[in-house]
Amino acid sequence: MDPNYPNILVADSISEEGIERLQKDANLDVLTNITKDELLEIIDRYDALVVRSRTKVTKDIINRGKRLKVIGRAGVGVDNIDVETATAKGIIVINAPEGNTISAAEHTIAMLLSLARKIPLANSSVKKGEWKKSDFIGIEVREKVIGIIGFGRIGSYVAKMAHGLGMNVIAYDPYVVPANIEKTGGLKVDFDTVLKDSDFITVHVPLNKKTTGLIGENEFRKMKKGVRIINCARGGIIDETALYKAIKNGIVAGAALDVFVNEPPKNNPLLDLDEVVVTPHLAASTIEAQKNVAIIIANQVLAALKNEPVMNAVNMPVIPKDAIVVIRPYIPLSEKLGKIASQLVNGTILRVKMIYKGDIAGYNTEYITKSALVGIFSNILNEHVNLINAPVIANNRGINISEEKSKDIEDLTNSITIEVETDSMKKVLIGTIFGKSEERIIGIDGFKINVIPSKYMLISNHTDRPSIVGKIGKLLGDEDINIAAMELGRKKPRGEAIMVLSVDSPVPDHILEEIRKIEGIHDAILVSI
Ligand code: NAD
Repeated sequence: MDPNYPNILVADSISEEGIERLQKDANLDVLTNITKDELLEIIDRYDALVVRSRTKVTKDIINRGKRLKVIGRAGVGVDNIDVETATAKGIIVINAPEGNTISAAEHTIAMLLSLARKIPLANSSVKKGEWKKSDFIGIEVREKVIGIIGFGRIGSYVAKMAHGLGMNVIAYDPYVVPANIEKTGGLKVDFDTVLKDSDFITVHVPLNKKTTGLIGENEFRKMKKGVRIINCARGGIIDETALYKAIKNGIVAGAALDVFVNEPPKNNPLLDLDEVVVTPHLAASTIEAQKNVAIIIANQVLAALKNEPVMNAVNMPVIPKDAIVVIRPYIPLSEKLGKIASQLVNGTILRVKMIYKGDIAGYNTEYITKSALVGIFSNILNEHVNLINAPVIANNRGINISEEKSKDIEDLTNSITIEVETDSMKKVLIGTIFGKSEERIIGIDGFKINVIPSKYMLISNHTDRPSIVGKIGKLLGDEDINIAAMELGRKKPRGEAIMVLSVDSPVPDHILEEIRKIEGIHDAILVSI
């Protein structure tokens, strides 16, 4: 062992290229059959541990890893790593989400062409000894419209390839500026235009509350007759029952699915349809993707061990010691303000400005600014957004980030303001810390309030008048939704006002609709953090 090199253990099999890269700059052990007990025995020798999904990096392993500084996951999901314990110990956890982008995009194009030319059906027919040429007349994709929903890593690469096939690319992604779509030869459009105008629709969004059932009965109804649908993202983004109906009633001519709500799919009627092409969650399964992932993880682990910046750290880096007392409580507060602001705005985010007032302005506030970006992006991106990659993401998306500082104080020792500006509106939230760590939201859009951030908050704008609060309270009460706290802000009696209700459970969409119908209410949005 060379004492000048870090000690790295690779505990699961990764591509040879990754091993070779690590060997160049580390004392490397590759023990891919190691048991948990054996790992517990030897983990204290290593500075970094590299795993895939076999090895469970549990709390006891992390606690025994006295020298451990980095854990690398050669892949995307980090469910097998106790990230919380690692973070508490200041151990960086790194993954490689971008390693499979090309493979997933190419699989999408393979699915598109399979649908257009009925290749899977024709293949089984010929193998059965048939020769039914006229049954498999296909369509050309050139000059057809492809609608891409979600223009991140994979969606944007699909756009480039589809453009190369001579297709007309339109894309919907509210979080991407038009220029980024135009760069690939595509055009940014709204959601309904994708539904109405596309011959092919492919989804590349993460699966979350907003995107579950993103394409359901209503959406199929708006589509062009004969549209073809592709899902190589996550099961559940397209409502499977609605898709079945849309194929049966002739709106959808074909669908290609790599992912399902339940995997493997059981008793799924879609599998009985000739119009449906399926693969078993294969989009990322290529030799190159595995090689890329191994090389990315090797490079990132080595960089992290040298304290160089890494792109894919899943958890938070350590804050400089001198600033820790002042800065630390503002980091989670800022993330919450970012999360709230991103849910209150519509349109494409163009600018994020952070304003620091009071003592805090004297410190390096970059962590707090980055934390606000983490909050903004965490609801809209598939990858783990963290303090390290959030500014890079903002930059790639053409979002202007700025900080303004003033040591002058108004009523408080410190306050942080986040201004999020989109192409159609601006939201301003102010927060502070009372005592050592009590978080407060003290302003929204110029209204003074005093709110403890809570998991679910119903935020409404209305014209101040009697009975509004009562009507909202009744609607929530009838639905058995408990109000934990209420705060009203207004600039003058009977003028414009804001209300923040902290509720114990989410408010369903139909109740939000009812609330929006109350006279005097301009808007009501349920925010969750
Ligand atoms: P990404 O985070 O780079 O991009 C996601 C994009 O979706 C972002 O640009 C975001 O702005 C956009 N978005 C978020 N919410 C949206 C909404 N409501 N409407 C429109 N756009 C929205 O992610 P990625 O790496 O491109 O991955 C895309 C999808 O592919 C994810 O669901 C991922 O899990 C999946 N994936 C599947 C496989 C597979 O094996 N089938 C492999 C890799 C990735």
